[in-house]
Amino acid sequence: MVVKRGTNDHEIIPMARHFKGSGIVLRFIEYMDVGATNGWRMDDVMPSAEVITRLQSEFSLVQLEPNSPGETARRWGYADASGAHNPAQGEIGVISSVTQAFCGDCNRARLSTEGQLYLCLFANQGYDLRSLLRGQASDDDLASAIGHIWSGRSDRYSELRAGLPSDTRSGGRRVEMSYIGG
Ligand code: SF4
Repeated sequence: MVVKRGTNDHEIIPMARHFKGSGIVLRFIEYMDVGATNGWRMDDVMPSAEVITRLQSEFSLVQLEPNSPGETARRWGYADASGAHNPAQGEIGVISSVTQAFCGDCNRARLSTEGQLYLCLFANQGYDLRSLLRGQASDDDLASAIGHIWSGRSDRYSELRAGLPSDTRSGGRRVEMSYIGG
């Protein structure tokens, strides 16, 4: 659930109620300035810390360890009466992509349908893999090219966001989420 203050934050607790104990992990993600067309404003962002506070007004939650390094969500489990995690009740996650950026652990790349490799959700250019494929590059060639591109990566937009001029943050030519599949 992308939480946007004043738009759907009243659904936080009903959504949690709906999925609690269902076996489905509900994740709440902060509203982000992806692309250049969603009219993002910091005022519309509800920090994950506030989401957790809201949830704690109704549920007893206990923080859980990450499943793996680089995991984007911080995990919280529903607790039983003793305060321990009750796995039968499941867990939720919060992704604090704006207020607690995790670029240092980011391990995601995205490939557009045109074969452009994007190294960051906020990138304004990709790296052309299509021409390698059309040029009959082998799997090893592709792996080597991707490794080379990735090892030169310095993307950390979310860590820099607050210090960027607002016209860079809200305008620009960043890739749209729909173009790279989310
Ligand atoms: S801003 Fe870019 S580098 Fe930082 S976590 Fe998001 S996708 Fe990764």
